[in-house]
Amino acid sequence: EMFGQLTSGLESAWNRLKGEEVLTKENIVEPMRDIRRALLEADVSLPVVRRFVQTVSEQAVGVGVIRGVRPDQQLVKIVSDELVKLMGGEVSELTFSKSGPTVILLAGLQGVGKTTVSAKLALYLKKQGKSCMLIAGDVYRPAAIDQLVILGKQVDVPVYAVGTDVKPAEIAKQGLQEAKKKNVDVVIMDTAGRLQIDKTMMDELKDVKRVLNPTEVLLVVDAMTGQEAAALVTTFNLEIGITGAILTKLDGDSRGGAALSVKEVSGKPIKLVGRGERMEDLEPFYPDRMAGRILGMGDVLSFVEKAQEVMKQEDAEDLQKKIMSAKFDFNDFLKQTRAVARMGSMSRVLGMIPGMGKVTPAQIREAEKSLQIMEAMIEVMTPEEREQPELLAESPARRKRIAQESGKTEQQVSQLVAQLFQMRVRMKNLMGAMEGGGSVPALS
Ligand code: GDP
Repeated sequence: EMFGQLTSGLESAWNRLKGEEVLTKENIVEPMRDIRRALLEADVSLPVVRRFVQTVSEQAVGVGVIRGVRPDQQLVKIVSDELVKLMGGEVSELTFSKSGPTVILLAGLQGVGKTTVSAKLALYLKKQGKSCMLIAGDVYRPAAIDQLVILGKQVDVPVYAVGTDVKPAEIAKQGLQEAKKKNVDVVIMDTAGRLQIDKTMMDELKDVKRVLNPTEVLLVVDAMTGQEAAALVTTFNLEIGITGAILTKLDGDSRGGAALSVKEVSGKPIKLVGRGERMEDLEPFYPDRMAGRILGMGDVLSFVEKAQEVMKQEDAEDLQKKIMSAKFDFNDFLKQTRAVARMGSMSRVLGMIPGMGKVTPAQIREAEKSLQIMEAMIEVMTPEEREQPELLAESPARRKRIAQESGKTEQQVSQLVAQLFQMRVRMKNLMGAMEGGGSVPALS
């Protein structure tokens, strides 16, 4: 299975959260360590891993609770979303020239699968209804030219080949002329690969690029080389300027480092991936599908997405209804304060409120204490009292009972009741939905 090791490394992160009720700063420490280790073992570049882990941690702590969704499932979703972003988000399509043939220049080190990709790409574009021509430019490996001619026949695409005695730039020029004469839609040029980057190789590529003025310059990299692939993309981009990468051999036991590092490290997208030796095994690089494969949890992801949607909708409708009918009661009050508490430590929540960036520990303790006091009083209310705060506004006897049962003062109970009505008014005003707004009743 592709990226199998990465997948199982991440699994241990989810497993640690089984039985937890909510994601907290504390309980994500170990899972985040697992994620970090899994990514490093997959040969993702270290700065990328660091940024990734930090982003995911920040989101995990602030995520809140979704009804019916377990914390481990929430973390899967967060990791998935961030993986997609890491890989560039959207699929990055090939660009086509609007006038004259689209020219695609392929570069890459030896053995990465460049010649194979040339023919695969021709077939891929042919299936989209485009006429193609291949140019054999790997003059240092005679076998490569023969190989391309054979593959060209196999996919039924003409190959322009003039042997190994002509300079690549000259081959490019002649090939392009031929393509224009034949009026083909797309020209794909295969170039020489070396075992390592050297100056001659770069200079030749620059010459070829100048002659072709290509629409796309794609670096073919081998997924098995992990983060080295990302470094190569960066180097080639700086040296000759490229438009993207093609990642080959994703079907092998590559660990995922290349797929996850290329975009983030080089700024250039992976446009296509090779997933086998057959001519048909080339496809667009879909970051979301790739993340899905890495996590191997497609069902969990769609479940969490649905739950998120449902909750957003229900909450919005619910709140709207409550505000319209001025029914915001102590149950809602409790729900809200608890939700706030669940979102993490008070300091974090207060820090999110504009103008409250700097809260002192004393203020935090104060806020937490008053939250506890409110909860204690609401807990001893009868269901009717919770649903109809008016009962409490009207009856000093009820307020006295609540004070006694919760161990708070009558003044504190009165304060809480007043607070609730103030909240109703504030919410109404916030929505501007009701004429006249509400008013805070005087307690009798
Ligand atoms: P070049 O030197 O870059 O032109 O590399 P070649 O095109 O000759 O490919 C080198 C080897 O890699 C060949 O045996 C190909 O069949 C193999 N290859 C290329 N792409 C893939 C791929 O996506 N998956 C697998 N499994 N093998 C591939």
